[in-house]
Amino acid sequence: MLIDGYGRKVDYLRVSVTERCNFRCQYCMPEKPFSWVPKENLLSYEDLFKFIKVAIDEGITKVRITGGEPLLREGLDEFIKMIYDYKNDIDLALTTNGFLLPKVAQKLKDAGLKRINVSLDSMKPDVAAKIAQKNVLETVLKGIQAADDAGLKIKINCVPIQGINDGDLLEVLDFCKDKGYPIRFIEFMENQHAKDGAKGLNSDAIKKIVSQKYEKFDEVPRDTSSPAQYYAIEGGYQFGIIEPHKDDFCAACNRIRLTAEGFLIPCLYFEDAMSIKDAVRANKVDEAAAILKKVLETKPEKNKWSDKDDNETSTRAFYETGG
Ligand code: SAM
Ligand code: SF4
Repeated sequence: MLIDGYGRKVDYLRVSVTERCNFRCQYCMPEKPFSWVPKENLLSYEDLFKFIKVAIDEGITKVRITGGEPLLREGLDEFIKMIYDYKNDIDLALTTNGFLLPKVAQKLKDAGLKRINVSLDSMKPDVAAKIAQKNVLETVLKGIQAADDAGLKIKINCVPIQGINDGDLLEVLDFCKDKGYPIRFIEFMENQHAKDGAKGLNSDAIKKIVSQKYEKFDEVPRDTSSPAQYYAIEGGYQFGIIEPHKDDFCAACNRIRLTAEGFLIPCLYFEDAMSIKDAVRANKVDEAAAILKKVLETKPEKNKWSDKDDNETSTRAFYETGG
């Protein structure tokens, strides 16, 4: 079992397979970075897999593949199969913008993927295009349908941004409610890579918007393995809000992150990281396991978004850490 320096059990590994993306979301990657990490600096699937095996052997029970846009990296289904074949009861999930799903959803499911989270910020083509800086909505909706048809469990992520998609949240919620997909509204996490001046909606503002249509909603007892607080509305449908600005948000944090370059990141907010690249490339699995434990010892108690005094901004890029 993996325990961090604050006694929290860590059983969830997020693995970013690329920092590249085919969208330029305003809250994440509004400008194309002037240089991408050269391909030779990325860990191969084989090397990423060596670390994942170590992590599973040490107590990781949930692995999520993310990016950048993970579906841009070729052979992702084979990578998923490697993990599935090693331990088929792992909770194996993927976070994607959905654009390439129409082509690959079935292949991913066949490879052993169980669940998929898709980002959907608006049901209006022009608003979705404004956020992603590309005409994306129609293809993303086809992607979500393809994942559903393939039998993947679906969740939707939506980042509300003031003055951009705040008028669209009910429409996204109703789409998810009709389809039976849980939606999580994620509070915008201020970071230096987002578009200048971007401002998110906090959880109270999101709830106020939901209450315009659904007057009554009940807080669902918190599942500590999920970062979201869920609320039940009519018909038993539940929506969630991820509230990183809340003081106790990190109290039950159960996750660590591995970047495509092999950096193990203990917290989404901070720059701290240790590389497992040399260890896995040299097949030194014991060394990789020791680095994993060291990183857990240094995992901070909480992020700084929850600092109320400052307008805290992280220097970390979401497209590197995978969110
Ligand atoms: N490209 C994929 C996607 O968009 O789903 C996976 C990577 S993306 C970095 C993972 C998640 O992070 C997405 O749900 C995205 O909405 C969220 N995200 C990105 N930047 C964010 C920010 N500044 N604040 C909150 N969530 C953010
Ligand atoms: Fe790409 Fe996802 Fe970042 Fe949007 S949130 S730019 S889709 S990595």
